[in-house]
Amino acid sequence: MIRELIDRLEGQHILTKEEFCTLIDGAGGEDREYLFARARRQAQAVYGRAVFVRGLIEFTSFCKNNCYYCGIRRGNSQASRYRLTEEEIMECCREGYALGFRTFVLQGGEDPWYDDEKLAGLVRQIKGAYPDCAVTLSVGEKSYETYKKWFDAGADRYLLRHETANPEHYARLHPEEMSSAHRKQCLRDLKAIGYQTGCGIMVGSPWQTTEHLAEDMIFMHDLNPEMVGIGPFIPHSQTPFKDKPPGTLERTLILLAVVRLMLPRVLLPATTALGTIHPTGREQGILAGANVVMPNLSPLSVRKKYMLYDNKISTGAEAASNIAELRRRMEAVGYEVVAARGDYAV
Ligand code: SAH
Repeated sequence: MIRELIDRLEGQHILTKEEFCTLIDGAGGEDREYLFARARRQAQAVYGRAVFVRGLIEFTSFCKNNCYYCGIRRGNSQASRYRLTEEEIMECCREGYALGFRTFVLQGGEDPWYDDEKLAGLVRQIKGAYPDCAVTLSVGEKSYETYKKWFDAGADRYLLRHETANPEHYARLHPEEMSSAHRKQCLRDLKAIGYQTGCGIMVGSPWQTTEHLAEDMIFMHDLNPEMVGIGPFIPHSQTPFKDKPPGTLERTLILLAVVRLMLPRVLLPATTALGTIHPTGREQGILAGANVVMPNLSPLSVRKKYMLYDNKISTGAEAASNIAELRRRMEAVGYEVVAARGDYAV
């Protein structure tokens, strides 16, 4: 029964909502190994055994939003805030380039100080200095015009997790001024402009049901993103969700594999959150169909301040400077870290 669903997902890249539920809840034991093997085979058919790396620069921890799960939410008065200067960001890129990174991801809170013009200037500066590199932005919800401005400045990709496709569930994770509809509109705008676009979810976020996950699958199938970010929810002690249980490794791996079979060419990171809940979480993610890792390029002095969730790892193999260790760990499971832009395979 489960295997038949896996075979059909592999062949047709879609299931009904009910079938997704059956698969997500039912893939245990040998069926789960079968699922992972199929997902690996799919990833290898498109990208071989390459693991693409992205240098993640967490350039501001100021945020005007108040998402209930997030450690850098506006309402967390105990968070220590920082904002990297343009010079510091360029220095991160210089270091990253020397280490072999050919994609820089600028991620931050929604920080009004970094307005449209400043960020456009920064993108232009990075693309001018490193024309062979891709620039990915991840700074939240903006207007079509703003996204277009940054695209015209040279930005290649944009990451904006939809968090959950179900509007009622979305409303339980975010304050009133935020909406699922607007987030989805942003994703459609990004696709229309021409960005390689990434959506995604937290697995095990409070009140998430299997039906919600099935709805996420169908939303992602319709959006057809180039990238999907999936990691476990992990509580942060200074947020309203501090007592909520974290998402599990097992369920996150199943979701990674299901996404790989549904979107064969998708760029799919084994996330830092996955590495945080289990010491070999990222290796297991790769073995479930992921093909991207995003080591941290932020200056050491600020790294502990970008705490989206408790115990976020940042100084081991997830530090960009330790790329040699990451390379060894990926080789140990049969994969090769490559120095390439790692664009979506067309
Ligand atoms: N401001 C940007 C970047 C947000 S941080 C934006 O809005 O897109 C990137 C992602 O981290 C979020 O989309 C969310 O899915 C994830 N995240 C935030 N808090 C988390 C937590 N407590 N546990 C796990 N993931 C979390």
